[in-house]
Amino acid sequence: MESNVDFAEILESFLKAEGDNYFFLSEKLIVQTSKVSKEILQELKEKGFTPLPHRSKEFDFKVKEGFVYEITDQKVAEKFFEAVTHKNPKKTFDELIAETNLSNSFNDYRKKIFSDTLINWMGKNSISLPGQVLIPKIEIIIADKKSIPDEMLALMPKSCNKCKNTVGLSPLYFKSNVSIDNVLMENELKKLFLEKGVEHYNFLGETKKDLLSTCKCQKCGSTDINWDFN
Ligand SMILES: [Zn+2]
Repeated sequence: MESNVDFAEILESFLKAEGDNYFFLSEKLIVQTSKVSKEILQELKEKGFTPLPHRSKEFDFKVKEGFVYEITDQKVAEKFFEAVTHKNPKKTFDELIAETNLSNSFNDYRKKIFSDTLINWMGKNSISLPGQVLIPKIEIIIADKKSIPDEMLALMPKSCNKCKNTVGLSPLYFKSNVSIDNVLMENELKKLFLEKGVEHYNFLGETKKDLLSTCKCQKCGSTDINWDFN
């Protein structure tokens, strides 16, 4: 489905899509209902609506948890860590947000996660928003091995999956200008690599996905390589 609803409006709805607030998207608009039943779903489906993802408490908790790992101040991070891991924390996550000056950064983080979630949902449901730019321009450059954190260098090419060659396999590292956090970005990255003749590559970081490695078999030229930890 191609929709001309503004992504900002879809995001606004998703921010409210919890409890009794359910949202549905069509080519032209978003509608809201306070409950869902088989009949309602069927009726909306016939009218060309797709249900927007509905946020659970677990989803929102995961977002909070993810934010804790973004906090760079060790002392502050510890307090937040206690809030999300203890059953009866001294202070809850929301209390800590209120007393630190992190509410803006939490809102930005949340918005980013919500946007990525929606973009992935759109990908899964074949929904596109023609003419709307949803992701930044992605660029990749070859990265010096010295700039790659040690723990990420353990993953090494072992053999070529195509010709079984094990000789002369050495990794080549790349860095992208932004972390590749949703399916649209992944598709763009894939295109950029294909332009370089690279079909297979690995992400190195787990939280920030901006470092990659690839390897071309010297014997057959394939990038379909079996990697393993040293
Ligand atoms: Zn090969």
